[in-house]
Amino acid sequence: MQLILMGLPGAGKGTQAEKINEKFNIPHISTGDMFRLAIKEGTELGKKAKMYLDEGALVPDEVTNGIVEDRLSKEDCKDGFLLDGFPRTIPQAKTLQKITTKLNQNLDYVIHVEVPEEKLLERLTGRRVCPTCGTTYHVVYNPPKEEGICDKDGSTLIQRDDDTVETVQKRLAVNIEQTKPLLDFYEEQGILVTVNGDQAIDKVFEEIQTKINK
Ligand SMILES: [Zn+2]
Repeated sequence: MQLILMGLPGAGKGTQAEKINEKFNIPHISTGDMFRLAIKEGTELGKKAKMYLDEGALVPDEVTNGIVEDRLSKEDCKDGFLLDGFPRTIPQAKTLQKITTKLNQNLDYVIHVEVPEEKLLERLTGRRVCPTCGTTYHVVYNPPKEEGICDKDGSTLIQRDDDTVETVQKRLAVNIEQTKPLLDFYEEQGILVTVNGDQAIDKVFEEIQTKINK
């Protein structure tokens, strides 16, 4: 089974990826892991990617696409894979089609874990961190015993700059804009499956299974 997993930050994509990986026994391939592997193996493309990453620059498409092709050609992808974080753009999606065709594979489904924006905002901005021991809390889902205070050492919890409403809103807006054309692209191809990510983790996974087992 060849799958792509999509979803905004905070949608719980990572958790579902783990579950899909366990259940269907297909490798979970994130862009970051792919780059790390290519760099570790010291391939030409890996070396190129490292050069860009070391400079803090964006890795160009031709390098990324090559790394994706190398990864999907590996033995463990023979019976399928779960791509996460790729493609990000329509040109990348089109390249992926070429790659899978070349490898005699076929994308089965693009799973979109959908969560309303206000819920994502709640999930992402509720995070609080202890500056002393690093323990992470959430004001709604994992609150400390006493509001604003670390259970372990009594320090006053802080909110990271990354987790403020303004920053999170911006991040979500950028992501939504980036994702929209891809969702439309796969919708047109009839392989987009949208699941409700605003429910318990197991329920989300149940819905995924039901929809991709059709
Ligand atoms: Zn602490």
